Amino acid sequence: MRPKFDGLMSSTTKYIFVTGGVTSSLGKGIISASLGKLLQSRGFSVTIQKFDPYINIDPGTLNPYEHGECYVTDDGGETDLDLGHYERFLNVRTTKANNITTGRIYNNVITKERHGEYLGKTVQVVPHITDEIKRNIFQLGETGQYDFIITEIGGSVGDIESLPFVEAVRQVRWDLGANNAMVIHLTLIPYLKAAKELKTKPTQHSVKELLSYGIQPDILVCRTEHPLSMEIRKKLALFCNVNLNSVIEAMDADTIYDVPLLMKKEKLDERVLAKLKVTTKHEPDLEQWKGFLGKLKNPTSEVNIGLVGKYVSLPDAYKSIAEAFIHAGAQNDCKVNLKWISSEEISKETVENVLGQLDAVLVAPGFGERGLEGKIEAIKYVRENKIPFLGICLGMQCAVVEFARNVLGLDASSTELNPKSKHPVIDMMEEQKKITTKGGTMRLGAYACKLKKGSKANHIYGDTLIHERHRHRYEFNNKYLEQIEEAGLKAVGINPDSNLVEVVELKDHPWFIGVQYHPELRSTVLNPHPLFVKFVAAALEHKSN
Ligand code: GLN
Repeated sequence: MRPKFDGLMSSTTKYIFVTGGVTSSLGKGIISASLGKLLQSRGFSVTIQKFDPYINIDPGTLNPYEHGECYVTDDGGETDLDLGHYERFLNVRTTKANNITTGRIYNNVITKERHGEYLGKTVQVVPHITDEIKRNIFQLGETGQYDFIITEIGGSVGDIESLPFVEAVRQVRWDLGANNAMVIHLTLIPYLKAAKELKTKPTQHSVKELLSYGIQPDILVCRTEHPLSMEIRKKLALFCNVNLNSVIEAMDADTIYDVPLLMKKEKLDERVLAKLKVTTKHEPDLEQWKGFLGKLKNPTSEVNIGLVGKYVSLPDAYKSIAEAFIHAGAQNDCKVNLKWISSEEISKETVENVLGQLDAVLVAPGFGERGLEGKIEAIKYVRENKIPFLGICLGMQCAVVEFARNVLGLDASSTELNPKSKHPVIDMMEEQKKITTKGGTMRLGAYACKLKKGSKANHIYGDTLIHERHRHRYEFNNKYLEQIEEAGLKAVGINPDSNLVEVVELKDHPWFIGVQYHPELRSTVLNPHPLFVKFVAAALEHKSN
């Protein structure tokens, strides 16, 4: 049950904006998610949205090397990876409306202009772009579902790109008043080794910059490698016009999952509630969260799992997979050491050396042909050596190709790898062949999947009907279904509407599963994904044999 605000005000939605200063990569997403967690743990209903200042309509077309993983929502949104943190922390689903880019804002405004909706007016950044930003800020609030909406503004204050967003935040604050909208500024307090001192000047400058746009931050969250002394806190408070108790220290943490507790210790949630004039008797209930942390920090066993992929030099490209292993490891009281392996490293000659010592192997999602043969070689090795295997999306497709080649003896491939393949066991769907544009045109979002009774997947999920998220163009080619199944690779998960194969598993192998969807996107701290949980358990089992 959600407690009603028992404070001075009505139950309208409150807006909390999170801006960043000094540098990027300070972890606005984690701070937003942690604050969200604390408010949620007091019984409030919370969601988090992110505004990104770039011109792409969404991050779907961005190179993972540049921007990390593209996180897919149930409703098929291709979004920023911070939405993954929001879902993992809050255990609630986000939607397309939770991630808005400059590109989307301009696209909406230009579309309206073409429809003549501006009645002959000159369309300008202020008020038309800022109004569209505000409309998007309020979109989630207007559903009436939320007590708090946390809005993270991407980029740092002072960037040319983020100016219209900052202006929109100023206006919202003015429109709603200080009891209903507030600004948290996340900043860096660098430590100068030579002087042995923490430095506040960059923060002072960044707050001055915010002030020049008409925004006085209510709370400063200060990223720091060393504790903030009272003297530093006082200096920051005085020079940045914030209350002393609104200078919040954010020390580097061992794990991102510690941050909600660190923020609670610093009373971030209490300060937010006080600023927004919300009183509640509901203390944060973080028992389950602490239970997870306890298991995470006190593993009784350990496994080495290989993650074979293309973008392994930037682990952010596989953020959700890495986090799903953290959740699943904790559930098994087991430390999962992920070994990042570039598929280009793997060949007939090297495979034993690279994979021989591992307790399990995951072949990752991906696009394009580079490194595909390495993935196929890796799968052959784990299939023959009975090492637990999980293939996700491209990883599942490679498993099908490997099986068709090495078990059925077909000259098989995926048409993504070889468009002229004689036996295209993985092929593009007919609908996909007509599509010529790249953005937002894959099979995206949650689809139903029926699991065959008695299959391993059925046991793992404890259910026969599941819903999982997709992001791909190519599919299992049903022309080869019978032949492949007969030889022992069973299609045990089928989309009931389209008949597309979603899950394959190998007979006579301790744990060999390929999934066309992305289970990692649904794993949260409080709901670790069963496939990952059981995969880690299989790795443990393999290790002990
Ligand atoms: N490239 C493959 C496809 O488009 C797999 C995509 C993925 O792994 N997400 O079907």
